[in-house]
Amino acid sequence: LTLTEFVLGQARRFGDRAALVDGVTGERIGYAELVDAVQAGAGGLAALGVRPGDVVALLSHNQPRYAVALHAVLAAGAAVTPINPVLTPEEIGKQLAASRASVLITAEPVAGKALEVARAAGIAHVLVLGEHEGARPFADLLAEGRPAPSPELDPATAVAALPFSSGTTGMAKGVRLTHRNLVANLAQTRVGWRITSDDVQAAVLPFFHIYGFTIILNSGLLAGATVLTLPRFEPHGYLAALEKHRVTRAYFAPPMVLTLANLPGVEDYDLSALRFAFCGAAPLDVEVTERAEKRLGCLIRQGYGMTEASPGTHQVFDAEFSSMPAGSVGRLSPGTEARLVVPGTDTDVEPGEAGELLVRGPQVMAGYLDNPEATAATITDGWLHTGDIARVDGDGVFWIVDRLKELIKYKGYQVAPAELEAVLLSHPRVLDAAVIGVPHAEGGEAPKAFVVADGGLTAEDLLAWVAERVAPYKKIRDVEFVDEIPKSPTGKILRRVLKDREA
Ligand code: ATP
Ligand code: MG
Repeated sequence: LTLTEFVLGQARRFGDRAALVDGVTGERIGYAELVDAVQAGAGGLAALGVRPGDVVALLSHNQPRYAVALHAVLAAGAAVTPINPVLTPEEIGKQLAASRASVLITAEPVAGKALEVARAAGIAHVLVLGEHEGARPFADLLAEGRPAPSPELDPATAVAALPFSSGTTGMAKGVRLTHRNLVANLAQTRVGWRITSDDVQAAVLPFFHIYGFTIILNSGLLAGATVLTLPRFEPHGYLAALEKHRVTRAYFAPPMVLTLANLPGVEDYDLSALRFAFCGAAPLDVEVTERAEKRLGCLIRQGYGMTEASPGTHQVFDAEFSSMPAGSVGRLSPGTEARLVVPGTDTDVEPGEAGELLVRGPQVMAGYLDNPEATAATITDGWLHTGDIARVDGDGVFWIVDRLKELIKYKGYQVAPAELEAVLLSHPRVLDAAVIGVPHAEGGEAPKAFVVADGGLTAEDLLAWVAERVAPYKKIRDVEFVDEIPKSPTGKILRRVLKDREA
């Protein structure tokens, strides 16, 4: 099956139930309407010359029509490359060129920027969700009502999505995900998550990132649930939307949890419909989790994955939601294998020890885009090298320690920034924190903290706070107070930005 056949194959039986609702404008698309629009959109794209093997770029914030455009592209047999709307024109141009996109679908408020870049890049067709002077409305294609084409493609090899990794550790890499990769990951995730047509999923994390794409948008559509789209995280607007739409499943990244943990007034919203809250994309501190859980009245459990794995490899199943410890990323998703190895070797670590996590399964990418060297370095014998250090207990429950590349090497010891960030965040006056390794005369490298505090704190206070709570080799050696920690749209601390600033 293709991704669209899998996700929308049964959609007509949900009739007029809301597939997507815009949390800002209230625009609503029902399931039958979604299927009709996808078919007409695919027919229209085919009439523009879109064929299997082509790539269509999708540059928009979250909104219901995003799903129509996405599945229309796939139903026309082409692949979609989702683009982050906050990228600069240069960055957008690079992704268009790297993915060899021939058509761009965009939307306000970024349509003007998108149109300029597309012209410069020689993109033949620009379509807009909604309206923008100089661009053809995507709705024109729908109005033409052409029949959907029946493209010939092999789901095992045909690329469905070309998302780019977050670029947290370096240049963002184009990731080739086949229809089979994405279908497999939805099927795997669904075993443990009993999402039904009674569920309402809050979709504020961006669809251009694989977490929003697979885990929030497509998992909801597959189940006949309602996907509530929000273009950005604005805490009170978000909470009001959860209340108004009786959201049952919420999906977070760590900065959202941190904001909710510290936000007065969360308790004033009626979130009684909320049953499951998930967090992924970066390390999440247990103490922050518990504070946010109290305010929300709902447990928050983590999952783990990466763009290269479509993305999910670890999850907390619904059935174990309350028994699984906060801080763990749960168990392997069905059909996924894992190994923990001594970094840089092919030797498994001793039971109970931490090591680099390797994963294998049908969700692992076909490879990076135009980068056989990086692909060969990342996948060996089907094993995907995640670059993350993890532990597993005797019961098959996994914990992510930190990224291998970000471990700080102090006198031959390994120090995980995430652990120190958690200790800093446990200080009542610390609002946010990031730790990086900086050159150090005796240690070679030593931890330095960047801290957002609500005033009245000195560097000495924090050095002492941490020193009392960690082994001496992990001590933070320097503190700098800042207004904000640089983060990616999915909430990853951009340590390379701090490192550049430091250098
Ligand atoms: P790049 O590969 O371009 O540097 P990236 O790895 O951040 O960027 P993604 O594919 O978006 O790009 O993110 C995958 C990474 O996110 C994982 O390798 C891991 O480091 C981190 N991650 C995901 N979930 C969790 C989690 N629950 N806890 C800790 N880290 C997580
Ligand atoms: Mg990565």
